Amino acid sequence: MVQLDTPVQFVKGIGPQIAKTLAEKRIAIVEDLLYHLPFRYEDRLHPRALTDLTPGEMASVIAEVRGTVLLRTRSMPIFEMTVGQNLSTLKCMWFHGTYLEGKFRPGQMVALYGKVEPSRSTRNFKMIQPQFEILPEDADDETRLLEVGRITPVYESLSGSRLASRWIRRIVYNLLEELRGQVPETLPAALLARLNMPCREESLRAVHFPPAGTPMSLLQASATAAHKRLIFEELFYLECGLELKRRKMKERAGFAFETNDKVREAIRQILPFHPTTAQKRALGEIVSDMRKPSPMRRLLQGDVGSGKTIVALQAMLVVIENGCQAALMAPTEILATQHYLAARKVLEKSSRKYRIVLLTGSLDDEKKKLARRRIFHGEADLVIGTHALIEEKVDFANLGVVVVDEQHRFGVLQRFRLMKKPNAAEPDVLVMTATPIPRTLALSLYGDLDLSVLDELPPGRTPIVTKQVSDERAEDVWKLLRDQVKRGHQAYIVYPVIEGPKDDQPELDFAPPDTQEDTKPAKKSSTAKTQKKTTSLFEKPTLKSATEMYENLRATHLSGLRLGLLHGRLDADEKEVIMRRFQRGEIDVLISTTVIEVGVDVPNASVMVIEHAERFGLAQLHQLRGRVGRGAARSYCILMTGGKISPQAEERLAAMVRTQNGFELAELDLQLRGPGEFFGTRQAGLPDFRVANLVRDRVLLELAKEESSRFVEHADAEATEDEKKRVWARLREAWQRRYGLVEAG
Ligand code: ADP
Ligand code: MG
Repeated sequence: MVQLDTPVQFVKGIGPQIAKTLAEKRIAIVEDLLYHLPFRYEDRLHPRALTDLTPGEMASVIAEVRGTVLLRTRSMPIFEMTVGQNLSTLKCMWFHGTYLEGKFRPGQMVALYGKVEPSRSTRNFKMIQPQFEILPEDADDETRLLEVGRITPVYESLSGSRLASRWIRRIVYNLLEELRGQVPETLPAALLARLNMPCREESLRAVHFPPAGTPMSLLQASATAAHKRLIFEELFYLECGLELKRRKMKERAGFAFETNDKVREAIRQILPFHPTTAQKRALGEIVSDMRKPSPMRRLLQGDVGSGKTIVALQAMLVVIENGCQAALMAPTEILATQHYLAARKVLEKSSRKYRIVLLTGSLDDEKKKLARRRIFHGEADLVIGTHALIEEKVDFANLGVVVVDEQHRFGVLQRFRLMKKPNAAEPDVLVMTATPIPRTLALSLYGDLDLSVLDELPPGRTPIVTKQVSDERAEDVWKLLRDQVKRGHQAYIVYPVIEGPKDDQPELDFAPPDTQEDTKPAKKSSTAKTQKKTTSLFEKPTLKSATEMYENLRATHLSGLRLGLLHGRLDADEKEVIMRRFQRGEIDVLISTTVIEVGVDVPNASVMVIEHAERFGLAQLHQLRGRVGRGAARSYCILMTGGKISPQAEERLAAMVRTQNGFELAELDLQLRGPGEFFGTRQAGLPDFRVANLVRDRVLLELAKEESSRFVEHADAEATEDEKKRVWARLREAWQRRYGLVEAG
């Protein structure tokens, strides 16, 4: 008897060999196969008449093969096939189509799916590289049932042409038949009834073999009731787990800090300006967490320049005034150093002397040792350093709060470990991120964190003028730059690489987004043969580099100005010296790689020039632009382009020119790249969904969140004992098996 958890190897038609192949696609048990959903559907119940097609549309047709020919043109072999229905015909072409020779015979019926292209002869249209399926001639019952005369599911192949749609259809169909009436429900019946959602078995059946009459538009958009139910189910279990984690955290022992007059006075003394409403609100939320006896786990989200740092400093002061230590972790040494200098400056204004310790890798061993000793003996109130250092090697006397400045790098919290003495209270944690991810997404990614948002910039900012210019107009750009320097301002020029082309460019700070896009193999296996031409894009085009341009500009267009060069391969001391000189205004123009992107704050800088802007991702561009426009003066962001610009790059640049709103840009970035790339890799903690899609399914995510917290709160209201047991069991399974998210200690 087949069950959902039966290993696929024991399914009829699958043996150990195929099971091995499937395992590579993370399909191990029957349930995995059933959740391998079609990525599109063809209406073969109402196939289109050839006379009825419109150029430009995507159409699926069933027609008879009339003839084929392999044309050997000078540039490439083209396989042509003519298909027909009665007197009308349609021509199909496949470039580099040698592999199709001998595949079709006249008289065969084929199902084709592709874009309808106008053809020179008026009546007949063309399809270029359509997807196709040869329909079996002497149709047995099963064929008639699965392939034609119905809405047919089309699947992403599980292994080339062998385990393609036809194969999957049969396997899945047989499984669903065998399991009829046996697919256990995963959600409480009352919940489904209230949400008006179909049961699990019915949903699985309907997504694989939609009943006649299901609107094609809903199917293609994964928006049928059946789809929604399966998506909801997946998100419900994600959110349930997150909800439980949040609750568990509330039960753990932390500090309950006090906010009395003494604390308030300490904060008042250091405030360099009137906080914005958003800053006040965020601090209020943070402090309210800190007063509670459970440890705080909060995410402070705010666009570049929204003023997160001072909020964090205030929160840390609360802790210090309560007699505990505070730690601030930054992603890079430059940033840690900058935070250190800024904190010193701000805290100097206090009547109390705070003991601040900087702990970075570039300190010599003797100094590191000393710093650690002071931290261990409680002779440091505020410890500032890089993630790595503080996470691993430091023993605190009495750590009360950790602030993680992770900017747009994700996943720190998952890896987050601090040495904690047994039985000691757990420190509060505040994570700061500059990535303006939409709220619902933030909540599911950082689902075990509470969220505060700085949705307001401090006053007095002038919008940044953003321009896209070709590097043929570089002269004008250098002139603008000289003018700005003459007015007493400073500028950045950013390059994608450190040195010239022979260099292997090992620097971590640059991953060219375009090479990723262009060389990623297209998804559909049937077009694999056409992808050869893309390999040439692996060749590195010549890029201007920071080092070369530093020399070049110093000798030419920017001679006479004080230039500085900054990149990740300088040692930490050198970096720090350069950064400080720039901060003090001793350098007019800082020529750099993206090392400056994270959090650098020099309000006097008014120009950001980014060369090869087409090579940068949207998030990066936005971060870089955020380095200027921090003072009252008008600022400029010049996106210089040189070389080939892909349509996606063009779209990114246009968006940068159009808007300065980080949320809008993030939204677009998410759409252009998809959640996987947007958030980085799997290790960034993004769950690996099988049916849900965080971009498409926001509404369902919101619903799942509401419903899961309701369920966790009052499970009894809508679920029987048995249902509850099954939900918890599945929750455990889902979290271990699918999301790979392990309970944080
Ligand atoms: P981010 O959120 O990117 O870390 P910062 O904390 O570096 O932003 O703040 C950006 C700049 O705005 C800093 O120069 C900071 O001093 C200034 N700033 C922050 N809050 C305010 C405020 N309420 N009024 C005026 N300036 C502020
Ligand atoms: Mg910052």
